[in-house]
Amino acid sequence: MTISKKDLNKKVGQAVKIGCINCSNETNHEIVCSIQLSGEEPIDPNYDIWWSQENQILQCRGCDSITFRQISSNSEDMEYNGRPREHEYLYPNRSEGRDPMDDEHLLPSNLHRIYMETISALNNKQPVLAGIGIRAIIETVTKERKSKGNNLQQKIDGLVHQGSLTDDGAKILHKLRVLGNESAHEVKAHKPDELSLAFDVVDHLLKAVYTIPYYASKTFK
Ligand SMILES: [Zn+2]
Repeated sequence: MTISKKDLNKKVGQAVKIGCINCSNETNHEIVCSIQLSGEEPIDPNYDIWWSQENQILQCRGCDSITFRQISSNSEDMEYNGRPREHEYLYPNRSEGRDPMDDEHLLPSNLHRIYMETISALNNKQPVLAGIGIRAIIETVTKERKSKGNNLQQKIDGLVHQGSLTDDGAKILHKLRVLGNESAHEVKAHKPDELSLAFDVVDHLLKAVYTIPYYASKTFK
């Protein structure tokens, strides 16, 4: 990696609005130190790529807590509008991430582990692993429910025949199944909001299959 440009503390004193690790909402964080690095790397005699990395130490103007923020981009990762896609990394990691579903301890132990690891992947901005995890959760549910079929598609349909799943739920699961396939075989990273929505559906499925029947059996003996 060859650094061709380095700007030190150019943004000191400016503020950025981010969720505070301490205050319960977004607050202005002052940049107390910043280092902007960028460079170019030749890929072949006719083609260079460029990269850029902004590193900041921030201090919350409300509670004085310290955060490290890094924004990176490069010429090989563009938005549809042609602008470079910016990746933001914050340390400590924000707990804006999702919490596990209620009564997640009622899930079978093998499923519980995959579920918690997938949430961790989501909260740590690992979209490829999160996509694979969502597929693994669906695989595990179909196995737990002994849903018959030669492939995952047939097994999801089997859940409908068993009465564990509605037709609408199956349609969404089929989309999730494709999503997981893409993560595993094409290593495609999905957008955070796509994954978050997919995980909402997973939570609904797990409630319908595990936690609601548990409470129903306790209530209507
Ligand atoms: Zn704060």
